[in-house]
Amino acid sequence: MSNVFIKTFGCQANKSDSERILGDYLSRGYRETADWHEANEIVVNTCSVRQSAEDRVTGFLLNVEKYFSGKNRPKIILTGCMLHFNEKEIKELLPQIDEILPVGEVGFNQKAIRKDKISAYVPISSGCNSFCTFCIVPFSRGRERSRPLEDIVSEVRQLAGEGYREITLLGQNVNSWGLEKVGVALRKMFMDKEKFSVEKIPSNDSQYFKPEDTPPFVTLLRAVSEVEGVEKISFFTSNPWDFWDELIDEIATNLKIDRFIHLPVQSGSNRILHLMNRGYTRESYLSLINKIKTKVPDAVFGTDIIVGFPGETDADFQDTLDLITRVGFKAAFIARYSPRPGTVSSRLFPDDISAKVKKQRWEILDQIANKNNLSSRPIVP
Ligand code: SF4
Repeated sequence: MSNVFIKTFGCQANKSDSERILGDYLSRGYRETADWHEANEIVVNTCSVRQSAEDRVTGFLLNVEKYFSGKNRPKIILTGCMLHFNEKEIKELLPQIDEILPVGEVGFNQKAIRKDKISAYVPISSGCNSFCTFCIVPFSRGRERSRPLEDIVSEVRQLAGEGYREITLLGQNVNSWGLEKVGVALRKMFMDKEKFSVEKIPSNDSQYFKPEDTPPFVTLLRAVSEVEGVEKISFFTSNPWDFWDELIDEIATNLKIDRFIHLPVQSGSNRILHLMNRGYTRESYLSLINKIKTKVPDAVFGTDIIVGFPGETDADFQDTLDLITRVGFKAAFIARYSPRPGTVSSRLFPDDISAKVKKQRWEILDQIANKNNLSSRPIVP
């Protein structure tokens, strides 16, 4: 029997994918090993959110190569967000790779092998249509695809039957679940690497037209909360631009839904938000937070922030400081900007904020976050 070792880098979406990749291997007769030195196959599930994440993948592969030098080396399979590189680039960058496993090939419905016995991640969508200018996800995971409601509810029923009580619905943008067919993505132009220019960054408030009826994600939340045995439902990530009133009302009235709401803001400066193509302003973000606080008084918020985005001035940074102080986030994941090859920001904007300034801004934000008693709860980057 062959041994497989899965090395997972990055966020909960990758961890959830690895649970299903492991399920696929076990169904084919492999045995899991916790020690890569004993593996016959190593699957490396990669993260590309920042250069440092890719450097960790390279470091791991160099260790494997060094250890097996002169010996029979295991087969190495690459998957995850580094697949935004094409095959030729991957061969040059990571010559140790024997095979590529496209993200999503394992499929939503492959049985996941979970370590936790109470709390389970359940993927509801994959990919993203939003094209924030700094983000590699639309290139690495492709267009947004929603998993059918029946498949999600059936997995949740099975999990509840096995004793799971907490369900976390996962997607790059869970709010838009079920809308990719009726919604209109306005940002296809972002895929056109040659023709794109800064003037073309749209200033629309939402990439989707607001559905006339109940938003599909609200219907999904109701269906999941009706499953007997499920006591708590969390979801992430939510985008601020389509966090509609019906969703707020559902959180307010459905007590199974977690009161911790993760709403990535990325910057408090309208100028930077526009260059990031985030589709909202600091004012509309703060007004959304206020609306949620009014209807869900016990809501607490988490966020993601990038410091040192190209051209970020001291005044822009002060706007971010001001915003985080106003909201009083319970948890924040603060990242220093690094250009990701192929993204719009890397093509259009020079990475002109020095490493020293990025570090200073990161430290200031982190300090304020700690003063706000940020919890250590893990946040999707
Ligand atoms: S930051 Fe989130 S919403 Fe924006 S492109 Fe990336 S995954 Fe999509």
